[in-house]
Amino acid sequence: MIIKLSDIRSGFQKRFFDILVDNIPDRGTVFKGNNIRCLISANVLKKNSFELNGELDTTIEHKCVRCLDLFHSNISLPINISLTDRLEKIKEVDNSDMVELSTSVDELDLGIIVADLIELDKPMKPLCTDECMGLCPICGINKNDRSCDCKTEQGYDVWEKLKKLENK
Ligand SMILES: [Zn+2]
Ligand SMILES: [Zn+2]
Repeated sequence: MIIKLSDIRSGFQKRFFDILVDNIPDRGTVFKGNNIRCLISANVLKKNSFELNGELDTTIEHKCVRCLDLFHSNISLPINISLTDRLEKIKEVDNSDMVELSTSVDELDLGIIVADLIELDKPMKPLCTDECMGLCPICGINKNDRSCDCKTEQGYDVWEKLKKLENK
């Protein structure tokens, strides 16, 4: 998805951009739907300095680290991008992504920025639910679906072994 720099330079309010997930660089995110919906405003801060603010919404797929099931989550992320013609001048401004505008290009590829925002937001250890009971380490069944008899014995063994270690 391309935004013309001339549009950004003149500013706009709450414009919708639908970005096709096929058109953004692959950062390892698995998307559930086909698109990423962005609502963006462009503000002119001062000469040669601009800001894109808004929000993106999409649905991505995760694999639960406990039960290995795939699950989806709707994510909504703030977009907060500063654009400048001279990057070094505003380096002290942090907490937003800084993009230096090239004088040779008259477009900004929103897809690259959005792909990075989504990938950075992904949890390191996704869980389908906070209460996910995971897989049984002995028989391998998904304990969210069924229960098995292995669990208590395994727990008992582990504690017994720990007690023996402590007593040494
Ligand atoms: Zn799970
Ligand atoms: Zn089991």
